[in-house]
Amino acid sequence: MTATTDLTLDVAAIRRDFPILEREVHGKPLVYLDNAATSQTPRQVLETLDHYYRHYNANIHRGLHTLADEATAAYEATRETVRRFLGAGQAREIVFTRGTTEAINLVVHSWGRHNLGPGDEVLISRLEHHSNIVPWQLLAKERGFTIRVIPVDERGALDMAAYRDLVGERTRLVAVNHVSNAFGTINPVAEMARIAHEQGALILVDGAQAAPHEPVDVVAIDADFYAFSGHKVYGPTGAGALYGKAHLLEAMPPWQGGGEMIRTVSFEEGSTFADVPHKFEAGTPSVADVIALGRALEWVDEIGIALIRDWEHGLLAHAHRELGRIDGLHILGTAPQKAGVVSFVVDGAHAQDIALLIDQLGVAIRTGNHCAQPLLHHFGVEATCRASFAAYNTPEEIDIFVAALTRVIGMVR
Ligand code: PLP
Repeated sequence: MTATTDLTLDVAAIRRDFPILEREVHGKPLVYLDNAATSQTPRQVLETLDHYYRHYNANIHRGLHTLADEATAAYEATRETVRRFLGAGQAREIVFTRGTTEAINLVVHSWGRHNLGPGDEVLISRLEHHSNIVPWQLLAKERGFTIRVIPVDERGALDMAAYRDLVGERTRLVAVNHVSNAFGTINPVAEMARIAHEQGALILVDGAQAAPHEPVDVVAIDADFYAFSGHKVYGPTGAGALYGKAHLLEAMPPWQGGGEMIRTVSFEEGSTFADVPHKFEAGTPSVADVIALGRALEWVDEIGIALIRDWEHGLLAHAHRELGRIDGLHILGTAPQKAGVVSFVVDGAHAQDIALLIDQLGVAIRTGNHCAQPLLHHFGVEATCRASFAAYNTPEEIDIFVAALTRVIGMVR
């Protein structure tokens, strides 16, 4: 049981939910600080997966037998859980996907291919993950529209004055992340949506890094589309979702064809398609993973996303303070609004060497370009080290990390 009635998080109880946190790496207790890549999975989610395969594994929507009925009911119940989690108005506005990348590709290939052409503009920001850049580039080549880039300031915050100037009558869609995976910047997506809408443009919000860390309300944001991945919010890999406003989803054509998404198929008359959201869910989905994603979101709810956010903000402040004491260490991304991600470089120490050596001390951090090459290049670096936090991390773990980092820097310099 992890729920707290306190105003602070019961981190010891939370940690007991995560069996993986008991393991050792190279003989040292695991300190897992790579949560922006993938968060760990609580036993409630593991048990949900196990229970599904032991008791009601079946294909959904097609069977008339008990197992198929049970699997379908649990799958569709998760749609309602995701609706609640995102604050959406209707469950049919939730489309299950493999994750954020697939959700963005759905919008690109369904909405984008049918609405964008020469003279149109799509605005993306310099903070984007490759998954919110490359699909647009691929389609721009095919459809001849223009991609324009919202700049960032020296702290890694979006330049909102430049954004206001960029949004114009040619803008058809703004695609921006809610929270940057590389720097942790929280973007003012509600304000950005308002500005986009004033010009008649839509907004797609990549919520991959917001869903685990910040309360999300797609109606308050007035997002037209919102994407997230289950594996970053304590769920399994293989399941995520796209929220889309019902009238937009209804007007969009299918992007993948196959079973599940059709109403009728005829060689003579072609095919007709199922209603939203099923017309976007061709083939057998990751049934177990979707159901377990629902359990992960319930787990987050039991603790309270606002408590998780506050806890992680405390961890972030602690990490900034402690890392700031290390000579020659530079934090990239110091925007006033940040989630629990800290990216840094160290004079005279290669990021990859740091990550490899610190792993020997049991600490898992990420190094590289974080699938955000345009951002890192803008700041003149090829790679950073990145520590990112989750509800189960503790200030003591940050102290272990900082001590290990100090040792490693001494070894490589
Ligand atoms: N967008 C952001 C901001 C991310 O951080 C990530 C993953 O790191 C993605 C998109 C892609 O998510 P996935 O690989 O789960 O599709």
